[in-house]
Amino acid sequence: MTRVAFIGLGNMGSGMAANQAKAGREVIAFDLSAEALERAKEHGVKPAAGAAEAVKDADIVITMLPAGQHVRDVYLSAILPNAPRDALLIDCSTIDVDSARTVARDASMQGFRSADAPVSGGTAAASGGTLTFMVGCREQDFAEIEEALKPMAKAIIHAGDSGAGQAAKICNNMLLGISMIGVSEAFTLAESLGLDAQKFYDIASKASGQCWSLTSYCPWPGPVPTAPSNRNYEGGFASAMMLKDLKLAQEAADGVGAPTPLGGAATAIYDDLVAAGHANKDFSYVLQMLRGRG
Ligand code: NAD
Repeated sequence: MTRVAFIGLGNMGSGMAANQAKAGREVIAFDLSAEALERAKEHGVKPAAGAAEAVKDADIVITMLPAGQHVRDVYLSAILPNAPRDALLIDCSTIDVDSARTVARDASMQGFRSADAPVSGGTAAASGGTLTFMVGCREQDFAEIEEALKPMAKAIIHAGDSGAGQAAKICNNMLLGISMIGVSEAFTLAESLGLDAQKFYDIASKASGQCWSLTSYCPWPGPVPTAPSNRNYEGGFASAMMLKDLKLAQEAADGVGAPTPLGGAATAIYDDLVAAGHANKDFSYVLQMLRGRG
């Protein structure tokens, strides 16, 4: 039986680990939260006393942690010193490109195969096993990594070498943050000009303004019934998470000298939204802030 060590059973990791167990794999997990470990037992996940114990006989090691610092710490203190050398190491957290590359280099120097494989899709996709994975790894390791991720995935895409998965994730989310603000500004202006919101939607969704933020995730309540705007912006993708990804994109852009003026402006706008106390609202709530209602 394939043995999976899973480190980080938070909002995302809990569902992902459960799907590994559901696929018939032996899952041994660790989280700093005793409560999270207790809950995981209900889904057939076995708790370990520490990350070192969880990884010691693993075929696959998956991490789903908050940020780069956590991933670097867990790799250096527990995974690299204790996992078998032939274990496949996969980090699914969203972290900075530099940390992803550092961790991959350290792993490779010790003879491990590794990948950065951040995800698109929220907690519902994590529980439902329908996440999209963007994978940074050596070409020759991809098939095995794909097999390891399958119980948690709807799509698995090879983005390139180490760090390319994280690069794809932050570029995509920077574009998403910018486009959501663009759509929200357009609705706000339409309202001020006396244009009916539904009429504006009907026209823009069939004209050149069409984009995912408008037609799949419309920030104005009504036109797209499944969008979080119809549930008082609860659930969905938290503004704090969008801000985290925008900051990662800005950090990466600064590091390579890439011009991202709109990415910078989007970061400042989401910073304001979070500072105004809306960290947990879906990121489409930016519309209400622009309208002066948030
Ligand atoms: P979370 O804060 O709910 O979970 C993180 C878990 O890691 C916590 O349970 C925490 O106790 C645990 N942890 C922290 N340090 C640890 C350590 N040293 N050892 C063991 N466990 C440790 O976060 P989340 O929402 O599950 O997100 C995880 C990652 O996925 C983040 O990088 C996030 O950006 C990314 N992500 C989240 C979403 C989302 O919708 N929540 C979507 C896509 C990507």
